[in-house]
Amino acid sequence: MTKEEKELKKAERLATKENAKAKEKELEESERVLAKKREVVYQEMIAKQKESLKHEKIAPKDSYISLQHINKIYPNRVQAVYDFNLEIKQKEFIVFVGPSGCGKSTTLRMIAGLEDITGGDLFIDHEFANELEPKDRDVAMVFQSYALYPHMTVYENMAFGLQMRHVDKDEIDRRVRHAAEILQITEYLDRKPKALSGGQCQRVALGRAIVKDAKVFLMDEPLSNLDAKLRVQMRSEIVKLHNSLGATTIYVTHDQIEAMTMATRIVIMSKGVVQQIGSPRIIYNHPANTFVASFIGSPAMNIVNATYTKKAIQLGEKGSIKIGKDVVEAHDKFYKGEIEKAHARLAEIKELLVKFALDEDAKKHKGETTLTPEAVMPQVEAEMLQDEETIKLNKNIKYFEECLAAESHKILFGIRPEDVVEVGKSSLIKNPSDVIKATLTIAELLGNEYYAHLDFNGQDLIGKVDAELLLDNGQDINVVFNLDKYSLFDDVTGKNINPYVEK
Ligand code: ADP
Repeated sequence: MTKEEKELKKAERLATKENAKAKEKELEESERVLAKKREVVYQEMIAKQKESLKHEKIAPKDSYISLQHINKIYPNRVQAVYDFNLEIKQKEFIVFVGPSGCGKSTTLRMIAGLEDITGGDLFIDHEFANELEPKDRDVAMVFQSYALYPHMTVYENMAFGLQMRHVDKDEIDRRVRHAAEILQITEYLDRKPKALSGGQCQRVALGRAIVKDAKVFLMDEPLSNLDAKLRVQMRSEIVKLHNSLGATTIYVTHDQIEAMTMATRIVIMSKGVVQQIGSPRIIYNHPANTFVASFIGSPAMNIVNATYTKKAIQLGEKGSIKIGKDVVEAHDKFYKGEIEKAHARLAEIKELLVKFALDEDAKKHKGETTLTPEAVMPQVEAEMLQDEETIKLNKNIKYFEECLAAESHKILFGIRPEDVVEVGKSSLIKNPSDVIKATLTIAELLGNEYYAHLDFNGQDLIGKVDAELLLDNGQDINVVFNLDKYSLFDDVTGKNINPYVEK
């Protein structure tokens, strides 16, 4: 290496080092800003909650468990749950579902009283429950780790909680035997947990909850420790148990199949925010956004890039789907609605900033502000130009307006694999242009059907195809979509442009 080359290398090394240092500094700075923001949000929420607790709380009439604007910020200032709202009727089986870390357990634990509620109101059986001790909530909890006492028999494990509450001995015996009968574990009552299988242990854990005779069952991933076969079996047993006991149940799982098969209503969450609440059927057929569409159903809903025009959805070069007036109307209503919502939020931000500016001025002038809202407006408008949320809202408004006015714009076309049908068998073809040509990249045979992975305009599309068909990888295949069952999502927000509306 020449001297010059050496110098060059050295300079490069130095530059990389400097760069890394600068990046680190930048990261530290943004973390500091974020931490400050989190702290402000936390303090504001605490102040608001304190104020709100001064007023008398009245429970909603026909709701058994009511969660109103529930927020959770942990001591490390991580916000785990944002503005959670749900009214649960008696005897419902509610499932909270979503990926790990989305805030399901936190919400459940707030209902159980094992976590403080940072903001919002909780009612259980018409009583304001935010401040109630867990033992006063009439709830029974079942956890993933069944945590049985190893030195006690099954009977003693089930009786223990009642003994602690000084329940009469005969009553304990009656309840334990009754629960054991329901769970078909009578013959194991004298065994210690180490002589039980995982499924039997989980049954004992359920038994401990049943003997409490609680009005509400809270279950946190109770089947996650069991093997796949046992999980399927216990799933239906828990549903049967719910049907016979009739206790209002909230069940937490990350498994969408459990949610679909067990729930009367599903609450699907992502990153602390509720994405959709509805019956399994509604959630499956009318997903509120691309997150729900992809999370529920296996294989996931196909979501492909498309172009919206007022006459058709163009699916690249390989197909187009005619649309009627109803779709155009839904489309326009959606974008107008989004524009209105964004403007309403901008107005809210402006109002907050005005109030903040006037409050600041009042602090300076012995509690009385000398300014009018008009006087602080230039300052507020300047602040809004810097505000991240405002910038995003304005950008979205511009985009939504373009979507309304343009001849065509990008859109996401969603179709479930079972609605991608091989032409040979289909009665769905209304005219030849409905047929879509695709190339089979791989066919996974599951016994009664294939998951056919298709290359469709360079995007992956999965169809469920009858196993009677003989498929070769690489062959061309003609498919048709069941057009009664597709969804359209906005390209930027991922929201369903034709959301399901409860009648
Ligand atoms: P899920 O049940 O959906 O897996 P959790 O409710 O357990 O999610 O967690 C939601 C978020 O809160 C996660 O980001 C998690 O790291 C955070 N979290 C949970 N418990 C605590 C805690 N005790 N302290 C701080 N952060 C927590």
